Amino acid sequence: MSDLIYLDNNATTRVADEVVTTMTPFYREHYGNPHAIHSLGRRSHDAVEAARADLAALLDCDASEVIFTSCGTEGNAIVIRGLIDRHPERRKVVSTTVEHPSVLTLLRALERAHVIELELVPVDREGVIDMQRMNDAIDDDTLLVSVMLAQNETGVLHPVARIAELAHASGALVHVDAVQATGKVPVSQRELGADFLTISGHKFHAPKGIGALTIRRGIALQPLWYGGGQELGMRSGTEAVPSIVGFAAAARAAVAALPHYDRVRALRDRLETEIRARVDDTSVNGATQPRLGNTASIAFHDSRADEIVRALDAEGICVSAGAACHSGSVEPSSTMKAMGKPLREAMGVVRFSLSRYTTSEEIDRTVAVVSDVVQRANTAR
Ligand code: PLP
Repeated sequence: MSDLIYLDNNATTRVADEVVTTMTPFYREHYGNPHAIHSLGRRSHDAVEAARADLAALLDCDASEVIFTSCGTEGNAIVIRGLIDRHPERRKVVSTTVEHPSVLTLLRALERAHVIELELVPVDREGVIDMQRMNDAIDDDTLLVSVMLAQNETGVLHPVARIAELAHASGALVHVDAVQATGKVPVSQRELGADFLTISGHKFHAPKGIGALTIRRGIALQPLWYGGGQELGMRSGTEAVPSIVGFAAAARAAVAALPHYDRVRALRDRLETEIRARVDDTSVNGATQPRLGNTASIAFHDSRADEIVRALDAEGICVSAGAACHSGSVEPSSTMKAMGKPLREAMGVVRFSLSRYTTSEEIDRTVAVVSDVVQRANTAR
């Protein structure tokens, strides 16, 4: 197990040891309900509020603007559905063609049900949002502009602050899906101009099943469900205290690690350069753009990504394929389609995503195995 090379950190991350250590007493000793008035309850309550302050520090907002959720998908749904239910007077939502399915499939379903009018702004071959089209799309009927900060497959960073300015000038609100960016670049609610910001713990070494959403003070949403009124009434249900304290520990570690993220970027750059030097007919998606330092989206032209992923897995290396298998046939990812990538490139896109735990030796071994695996696959053809 220790020989495993894990380069699929955009899918999920290993829970950091210090996070597990912080969580454990909240299962065994401090298990009170944070809303109980006895001392055990108060202990949990204080831990949740301290965690909220840590998340606010990570996201550069006020602690009163942070609510805990179960994941990024839930945070995205709370904003999109909650805002639409609250404001029937404006019908239009503007987003992009490369959003995560938790945004894109929800918006498309709402459009099909005639609840919203949807405009998806396209990107170019490098994943860059067409800002002229964005400008044209946002109008006086626009309720919400929903845009991700970092694209999960390519790592490309979007000009969210500029988009927020355009949106606010038309009286629209701005939702930023920062799930993939958090822990990899500084994320500031204030500087981005975000009215809502979604993050998820399992992308930066907290457990799965915990996330957060920021709601800028003064903005009201319709809750998706009702109950005990926890989390500003937006997310009723007893708080997942152990996960919340673990999430906060991961947030503190992410803040401390960010200044050293250049090390991860240098490893990623070396991985890309060396693979490109050894394997013919490869390209790197989004390479010309500002992007996350941990993500390498490499297209092996005329190869099949799923075959490469399986061959690497057999050698103890975990990565992911852009192309996915649906009902027996392999399809390029919707992101690669949205970027207008030709099929011979899109079918061979492999994503390598590093973490702060990735070592130089792991990159060396990955480069060697990748060149071997791809060359073998190509000669077998
Ligand atoms: N948004 C982005 C950009 C993501 O990459 C993901 C997960 O991959 C999500 C949202 C969904 O997050 P979660 O898995 O916590 O629901």
